[in-house]
Amino acid sequence: MKNAPIATKPTHFLRQAIEADLAQGTYAQRRWSGAPADGPTQLAGAADSAKVRTRFPPEPNGYLHIGHAKSIWLNFGLAEDFGGVCHLRYDDTNPEKEEQEYVDSIAEAMHWMGCDWQAFGTDHKYFASDYFDFMYRAAEALIEAGHAFVDEQSAEEMRANRGDFSRPGTNSPYRDLPAARHLAKFREMRDGLHADGAMVLRAKIDMASPNINMRDPALYRIRRAHHHNTGDKWCIYPMYTYAHPLEDALENITHSICTLEFEDQRPFYDWVLARLAELGLLAKPLPRQIEFGRLNVSHVLTSKRKLKQLVDEGHVNGWDDPRMPTVFGLRARGYTPSSIRAFVDATGASKTNAWVDYSVLEQCLRDDLDPSAARAMAVLDPLKLVITNFPEGELSDHTAPVHPQQPERGLRHFKFGRELWIERSDFQAVPEKGYHRLYPPHKAADGSDVAGSQVRLKYGYVVRCTGFSADASGRITEVHAEYFAESKSGTPTSGQFKAKGVMTWLAAADAVPATVHLFDHLFTPEQPGTSEADFHTELNPNSLRTVSAFVEPGLANASQGVLGKGDGQRLQFERHGYFIATSSADGKPCFNRIAGLKDSFSK
Ligand code: ATP
Ligand code: MG
Repeated sequence: MKNAPIATKPTHFLRQAIEADLAQGTYAQRRWSGAPADGPTQLAGAADSAKVRTRFPPEPNGYLHIGHAKSIWLNFGLAEDFGGVCHLRYDDTNPEKEEQEYVDSIAEAMHWMGCDWQAFGTDHKYFASDYFDFMYRAAEALIEAGHAFVDEQSAEEMRANRGDFSRPGTNSPYRDLPAARHLAKFREMRDGLHADGAMVLRAKIDMASPNINMRDPALYRIRRAHHHNTGDKWCIYPMYTYAHPLEDALENITHSICTLEFEDQRPFYDWVLARLAELGLLAKPLPRQIEFGRLNVSHVLTSKRKLKQLVDEGHVNGWDDPRMPTVFGLRARGYTPSSIRAFVDATGASKTNAWVDYSVLEQCLRDDLDPSAARAMAVLDPLKLVITNFPEGELSDHTAPVHPQQPERGLRHFKFGRELWIERSDFQAVPEKGYHRLYPPHKAADGSDVAGSQVRLKYGYVVRCTGFSADASGRITEVHAEYFAESKSGTPTSGQFKAKGVMTWLAAADAVPATVHLFDHLFTPEQPGTSEADFHTELNPNSLRTVSAFVEPGLANASQGVLGKGDGQRLQFERHGYFIATSSADGKPCFNRIAGLKDSFSK
């Protein structure tokens, strides 16, 4: 599938699960009060006009990456396809690592990607921490109903009594004390009468369950920490596994799509929601958790923690370094929002954690830009070509289409002169077998004379190589050729001249000096971070190459946009790939290569 266009939206088990639920009317009776709320409030609302509700629940403890983009478009895409709504929910129940900077960056990244959480006249942006009051109330209800208890065992005792895969756990000595005692203790926890870690609230399920997550899991812990949203109001915080199902239920989520590592948590997810529905706190039908495989992309890491390390340790220039697999990195590199969405659609959803080749993302970018990007010429590794029979001081006028398939977009204009820039790789003093670009007259291995090659300079003339000069070290400094005046592209006689190959070029007289950033994979191995090796040792030392290049004159004022915002002009440099204009410190035009013309990385 590498270089074929990727456009279709494959069906997958998540779509099928939703289709089946819709066909059976599983969620048809839901009511919605207009905002997240407990069961009685939702039941008093109108019929929910959203056929399904999904959510993207980032923890605001880092910048979004390509793996999050996957989850975003799965959830927003499914909601869109099935007449539903997707909520943006900040899963900010852990006070320790969450910051406003991340809250803001997540919304910005999602807006740039084109996500919209406004639907049916409501702004569906929610904060899980706004549900702390409900979570607390639900915990008291569980205690009163005998479904939860305050455990004062030490952390070590709890660990020892949990058992393991081969051994059932042991009940806590606090487990069967009266509910009134647990309720009083839990209130003391809330009121700050106990030290951090002194006790926890646990569900009362089954210490012998083969699923260790069902062995009386913790619901609340004491943690004196300032929270970015609720400040110092709370010194107890809900555990993620308790908080998440409640968040889903309060928001009327129908399908709670999460990654595979939560599969073993699903029995608890269902258990806690069922208990709260029995107690009248939540409305049925309850949300359903469905797991899918994480997306891993070859040669990059998708772990916020490791990406943060790359930034903190200076291996990259920030979260929005164009080599980073963050949404901001992809944006700075020049990826378009639609190419990211196409990538997510193309990679579907599966029940295993899959590795997808980075080239699939590149192909999505090419498919997106090919119809729109203006063409241009650039010489990235310049070598001088002197046309010895072209009159000194003269220039001829040349044109090329802005887009070869769209003549209505007009022409680009540039000059041809005695001195040109060509790619260094377009000349070989002693050509290797099958070489079709410039080489001088020389003697072949068998001693016979070989004439200098004849090549078409695209949109220019056919030239014949006559010689070259080199410096003392043997490095080629200049190539010499003669042109055929009658061979100018577009003239009636141009077809009479044979050419072995076609080359790109620029006239020294009007070429514009530019800086070009060329990228390679950030990590050398295909699956970084998966071996014994420290992932630092897997960094590719040549992931960024900055070259002094020349671009055609029309690009002297290419629209650069705001640095890193990915809003500069995108174009295709013939032979070299897709690029975006970006700002530079020295004011020279500057271009990032987004992707090569075809899969340039894997050979
Ligand atoms: P990380 O490991 O990078 O910290 P996370 O899963 O802890 O990621 P969250 O903020 O909790 O990050 O993720 C928000 C949502 O994005 C979750 O529903 C999570 O499952 C999903 N998600 C994160 N990474 C991926 C991935 N690589 N592929 C698919 N979904 C992902
Ligand atoms: Mg997480």
